Amino acid sequence: MSHTLDVAPRKMRNERGFSVVGAAFFLAFCAFCAPLGAQETKPAGAAANAPQDLAVAVRAIHVVEDGEGAGLVLDLSREVTVRTEILNDPPRLVIDLPGAGFAAGIPLSGNKSIGPVSAWRAGMFMLGQSRLVLDLAQPAMIERTDFVRQNGTVRLVMPIRKVAQGRFDELAAADRKARLAARGADAGPVNPRAANAKPLIMLDPGHGGIDSGALGAKGEQEKDIVLATALAVKAALEADGRIEVAMTREGDTFVPLGERVRMARSRGAALFVSLHADSLRAERDVRGASIYTLADRASDSLAAQAAEKENRADEAAGVDAEDETREGVEDILFDLARRETRLFSHVVAQEAAGAFRKHNRLHKTPMRAAKFRVLKAPDVPSILIELGYLTNSEDIKILGDTPERAALAKDLAGQLADFLLTKRHAISAGAAATASP
Ligand SMILES: [Zn+2]
Repeated sequence: MSHTLDVAPRKMRNERGFSVVGAAFFLAFCAFCAPLGAQETKPAGAAANAPQDLAVAVRAIHVVEDGEGAGLVLDLSREVTVRTEILNDPPRLVIDLPGAGFAAGIPLSGNKSIGPVSAWRAGMFMLGQSRLVLDLAQPAMIERTDFVRQNGTVRLVMPIRKVAQGRFDELAAADRKARLAARGADAGPVNPRAANAKPLIMLDPGHGGIDSGALGAKGEQEKDIVLATALAVKAALEADGRIEVAMTREGDTFVPLGERVRMARSRGAALFVSLHADSLRAERDVRGASIYTLADRASDSLAAQAAEKENRADEAAGVDAEDETREGVEDILFDLARRETRLFSHVVAQEAAGAFRKHNRLHKTPMRAAKFRVLKAPDVPSILIELGYLTNSEDIKILGDTPERAALAKDLAGQLADFLLTKRHAISAGAAATASP
């Protein structure tokens, strides 16, 4: 859908009463004297540490043609703090609106190429934070952010201008540096659970918020299906009562892949189970669940494709994959722990497959391995279950809100609890003698 809104600077009047030329000069000057790249614009009158008001609504998003590039225009219920960032590999522009939410029913993505923008998407990034991500076909930057009042609506107007590749790379590198510095020592220690505490399972419904995941034939979204299934497994585990359960997300919010792993480790989880669902538009008869473990080399080409698809979650949500490089150091430090973790992961994958087999819901080659970023905790046994194919009519039916799904969730919960309470210790005792490197 294309809108024709005039984003020409001469028509704009800034809420704070500065001329737009003045605002542009101010931002250009800022970028020059403090080359951080990432920009933050607070609404006029906002106190420095004022609590975030969650009541700002984004009522419409327009990505519009503009002679010199493109324009991003948001209709808001009132002014909001805006943070913009540039990401590279692939080139993207990220706009964060802390404290804002999207009005129900407005379009949240577009695939039409407009100036340097090739596609865009919007959604909740984290609780209370909305994000827009613009994919770029050419290097470009947000020239400035202006609030304009027009017929009772507050418009946030962001002209997007093409820049030289070298300049774009510089800005992206500066933003990345600032991001890593801000994160600093926030990794926190791994917290082992008390010896007498119940073992904890971390359930990880994939995707969420701005990242919808795979789509079914009727527009069913992977993020919704995996969340509903995870909640069913959680309910079954809580009813069982023998182990504790936590989730990486319980609502429609985005959680970066590395953050999911950190959550499992910081809570001292004994098991991490990531839930996903696949789609294969060209092969609609392919059905059933596959259970994945981590491997440097994929077990087959479909496994490699699945990992590539799932690993793109951060990219879709405007997270820089390179932010996660620190995990590499931990990989080395935890090398010994990893062998036992890997062994546990394989056993628990077999256990999980048992639940799907019982319901005749297994893929024909269900046990697979690939390099999933979300499975990289060196000290938490981790599996990723592709519950089925959203493109298969049988699978999508079972994965809907059905008694079959509830029964499957209950059996899966039972298998996971059994593993943690009995088999894990048996393997642990014999691991030193039997584990292969
Ligand atoms: Zn997925």
